[in-house]
Amino acid sequence: MGFDLPLSLAESLNLVSWWKPVLFLFPLLAWAWAVSTVCDKHAAKYYLERERWNYIHCIAAFIALLAVLFMPPIGSGGEFTWIVSFLVFSGLLASSVLAYVTVANKDERVPENGKVSFELSKLASLVESKNPKKVKGKGGTSVLVFRRVDKSAVDVPAADSPDFEVRLAAEGMITRAVDIRATKFDLAPSNKENYQVVYYVDGVKTAGETFPAASGVKLIDFWKAAAKLDVADRRKKQSGDLTVERGSAKNKLHIDTQGGQSGQKLSVVFDPEQQVRKTAEQIGWTAEQTELIRGWSSSRGGVVLLAAPPESGRTTTLYTVMKMHDAYTNNVQTVEIELEDALEGIRQNKWDPQAEGPDFGTLVRSILRRDPDVVGIAQVPDPQTAKEIVKADPEKCRVYASIPADSAVGAVQAWVKLLGDPDAAAKSVHGVLAQKLIRKLCINCKQAYQPTPDILKKLGLPPDKVKQLFRKGGEVLVKNKPEQCPVCQGTGYLQREGIFEVFNVDDGAREMIRAQNWAGLKAELRKSALPSIQQAALRKAIEGFTSVEEVLRVTADPAATPKPAAQPGAAPAAAAPKQPAKPKA
Ligand SMILES: [Zn+2]
Repeated sequence: MGFDLPLSLAESLNLVSWWKPVLFLFPLLAWAWAVSTVCDKHAAKYYLERERWNYIHCIAAFIALLAVLFMPPIGSGGEFTWIVSFLVFSGLLASSVLAYVTVANKDERVPENGKVSFELSKLASLVESKNPKKVKGKGGTSVLVFRRVDKSAVDVPAADSPDFEVRLAAEGMITRAVDIRATKFDLAPSNKENYQVVYYVDGVKTAGETFPAASGVKLIDFWKAAAKLDVADRRKKQSGDLTVERGSAKNKLHIDTQGGQSGQKLSVVFDPEQQVRKTAEQIGWTAEQTELIRGWSSSRGGVVLLAAPPESGRTTTLYTVMKMHDAYTNNVQTVEIELEDALEGIRQNKWDPQAEGPDFGTLVRSILRRDPDVVGIAQVPDPQTAKEIVKADPEKCRVYASIPADSAVGAVQAWVKLLGDPDAAAKSVHGVLAQKLIRKLCINCKQAYQPTPDILKKLGLPPDKVKQLFRKGGEVLVKNKPEQCPVCQGTGYLQREGIFEVFNVDDGAREMIRAQNWAGLKAELRKSALPSIQQAALRKAIEGFTSVEEVLRVTADPAATPKPAAQPGAAPAAAAPKQPAKPKA
């Protein structure tokens, strides 16, 4: 067998003609070009384990070479050996490039406009969706396709009509939002003359385009018409859904409009259900917190308060906790104003503020009377609702009540205030979860530094243990020139994560609630040795996930910020029950 190799080598390459080995150069050169000028540069730009990928490419090339060298004779006289070798060689080389493209395009660090695109994959996406990149309307040509819930496309107006300008401006808002990773944008009057777009990137507002009031109104009308809302009604709150397609990329849009004193306001949320869909493992609880919350889902009775400032993941947490209950052996329900995701097996009751019928508290009462095991209440808009909640069977029915507050103690305080009865409040509460969202540093551009003893002292961190912290960058060096970081678009941060405090309320804590001794309650809760929101945030900074500046921004002294009930968008504690603010992700 030892001398099989040179024989099969000669046969496999079938060296009768000079052009056959030369033919192998073509896939090899194409591969080398793709790896060095596309994959490697792309990996370097977006921080995608560049070295590991280069190993993978080299190994693929090595295997391709071995496959050719050890190719057994194929065909009766070995006449097909070279062609099979050629195909296997090319295929193996191509697979390493395709593997990179597939993995890189799914990576969260790569923005939509940074995806690798070969003619081949462009071709594939063209075949898969019959929508060409440009959409021809009655004359106008646009880049995006807006599709209604019934799948019909929104017509593109003629290029010379004034509506076409509006359409392009609307498309521009979507394109900009996707480019800067916004998850939401608003369009509202900024003063008497103008409307302004505000984009929300990782929960932080970024000012966008300004339009003269007349154009702003036309733009809002465009979105309303596209989502089949009543364009003529400029006062009532209206909601609708749309899908936007950009090439093969798709986003769901949820649209809200409402009239106000100074004009209409439009809000567009991207992929709302993606934003609230998290498992217990993904949401960011520590192991001890997860264990404690699992205890909630296996016990019965009592009220668990779920607290967060507005737009800080309250719906996500409510949904995650609800999904931890077995909805097949238990009667699990929710009461919500806006259904942000469909929860399997859970009956979601929607309360419509516009509709005639029972008010929120009455709906809650009628649901609690039907003997459910678990009820999640997306908000507690008024004292009446709170009073209905504490009437639930304390032994059997578990109620999760979501309220705007920025700490566990703050949540209990709000609960006592809603009920107007510290004794009833103390008796009812089984547990409290409070959360905030903190921005994660962009791993592509974050900068390490050695903290001074002063900073560490201010933060209450041991100086000997914390050798390094990180701050936001926003820029990267490309050929020794600073350029805006392509991963975070210069913000220095990339996505948000929850930071939590989670406590069970025991008899000691109940005593403090009865006495309305909030400092005492805080001390009681600390006894559990579980982290507070501040500690959870600092831990993220020590681990290098976030910056000290972000920790301070998020955990700023609540005394310095308006009280939760006074914040815009927060559910008013005792105000107009027909118009409670919408609970948000
Ligand atoms: Zn960055």
